[in-house]
Amino acid sequence: MGELAVIGAGFGGLGAALRAQERGERVVLYEALNYPGGCASTFTHRGYRFEAGATLFSGFDPHQPFGRWIEELGLDVTFDRLDPLVELRTPSGSLAVCRDRAEFADRLCAWAGEQEGRVRRFLRYQEKIAEVLWSLFEEPTRLPPWSFGTAFGHVLRTPRYLRLVRSVGRSLEQVLERFGLADCRPLRIYLDAVCQITIQVDSARAEAPFALAAMDYFWRGTGHVRGGIGVLAEALVDAIEQRGGQVRFTDRVRSLERRPHGWRVHARRGARDVDRIAANLLPQDLQRLLGQPQQALQPWAERVRTGWGACMLYRVVTPPPDAGAEPRHLQLIQDERQPFHSGNHLFVSISGAHDGTRAPLGQRTLTVSTHAPLGAWQQLAPAALAAKVQAVQDRMRRGLARLAPEWESAVSFETTASPRTFARFTGRSQGWVGGIPRSAGWQAYRELWRGPVAPGLALVGDSAFPGQSTLAAAIGGHRAVDRLLRGAPRRRERAYSSLEGTLAPGSSGPSTPMSQ
Ligand SMILES: Cc1cc2nc3c(=O)[nH]c(=O)nc-3n(C[C@H](O)[C@H](O)[C@H](O)COP(=O)(O)OP(=O)(O)OC[C@H]3O[C@@H](n4cnc5c(N)ncnc54)[C@H](O)[C@@H]3O)c2cc1C
Repeated sequence: MGELAVIGAGFGGLGAALRAQERGERVVLYEALNYPGGCASTFTHRGYRFEAGATLFSGFDPHQPFGRWIEELGLDVTFDRLDPLVELRTPSGSLAVCRDRAEFADRLCAWAGEQEGRVRRFLRYQEKIAEVLWSLFEEPTRLPPWSFGTAFGHVLRTPRYLRLVRSVGRSLEQVLERFGLADCRPLRIYLDAVCQITIQVDSARAEAPFALAAMDYFWRGTGHVRGGIGVLAEALVDAIEQRGGQVRFTDRVRSLERRPHGWRVHARRGARDVDRIAANLLPQDLQRLLGQPQQALQPWAERVRTGWGACMLYRVVTPPPDAGAEPRHLQLIQDERQPFHSGNHLFVSISGAHDGTRAPLGQRTLTVSTHAPLGAWQQLAPAALAAKVQAVQDRMRRGLARLAPEWESAVSFETTASPRTFARFTGRSQGWVGGIPRSAGWQAYRELWRGPVAPGLALVGDSAFPGQSTLAAAIGGHRAVDRLLRGAPRRRERAYSSLEGTLAPGSSGPSTPMSQ
């Protein structure tokens, strides 16, 4: 049995650790903080529990990765399917994304006005493309590296893949032109909003197949984890420990050293020799741990820098009388003609009324996020940067007051976060979050076949394929471990449920506040 170190207990690292155990490896998981989940964690501050970043999740149907983990690992995690999943609000109207797809199509057509026939044709095409691509996401072994059987399965599925030919390498806007919908403003607003929160780029620049698949996000086992996503991350850590894995919280890895037959991990609480490493880090942060420049990492780090940071508000509010009991998700756009970032576009997640773990009954917690254009902010002096962040957070407050006034009247607590906060708590250089935007072009597909960074060392997380979102990061972790173990003596794979081991020494519960 070999030993595999995972650096970072974000969802990329958790996916890698679980897959390594499934493949029969001994696992040691290092996490700098005293709680897991990274950008998709739940932190405690003044007795309230806030989701740090991610709040709406897909992949929870029984045949999908998170659904399967919950079932096979016997996790005590409750997943709430919401209806509506999200409500989009702009100054010119609102659109509820409801669970019934047909009903949603009716609403979108009504929103789009006169172009109903074209919109319906576009939605039918979109659904077909999404079907092909989600079948890859829902079964990680369908992504490279392939076994002979999987490759053969793909050959048989070739006729389905041919559907993609007309959109690969093109922008979503070009596909819309084909349907005569490029100038359909309401549809463009909806698409820009969906693309921005999923593949991190607007519809004019988005790579079409990724965008068309992302449009299905709301109907792919999507909803909210009761108690916050940190509940799932913590349950996965327990499962890893129960299966013999060692989880080392508050043990930040400081450097990595190549050894003749593996790697030496130098961490805050000592060094350890391991056979392989899955690093749940940004390429620039892995570069720092390695000390010497790695050719593969430089262009990768550049691509991360085409992405985003995040500005956040975390609030505690008394809900309006007609708020309903379910958790809520709002997407707010203040000015439809301005870019969807920097406080113009907000994603608001509100905890459920009965979730007493988040706030005392009668109160609800809010996590409010917006994309921050970190590339443009990079050259700013610290004082100017602080002023920018302050301006964006003020704009977020104005947006809430204008487009979600019912949640504004009784705010009893507020704290904030900025890219600097993310850098400090998740260890991400400068606070780059959310993965590499899926802009139109072939680059994204080349990543499918990217191998380990160095022998026995792979990078996992949202900057590695398939990329953005907790689900994609977890799937990427799974695939990276299969790559690392390629050529290693193949042991019989064990179902998660049959893995047994000893409980590793205790880990402390989450308590570090993620606030500025
Ligand atoms: C504001 C915001 C909103 C989002 N909303 C959603 C959403 O609604 N739905 C969704 O699916 N996705 C969402 N995302 C994206 C999603 O959160 C991320 O893509 C995903 O969680 C990233 O996981 P990761 O494993 O790549 O990295 P991370 O979550 O960053 O995890 C990395 C981990 O490594 C640890 N670490 C770092 N350096 C070291 C070191 N040297 N030693 C030990 N440990 C270390 C960190 O502490 C951290 O726990 C959102 C992201 C943000 C920022």
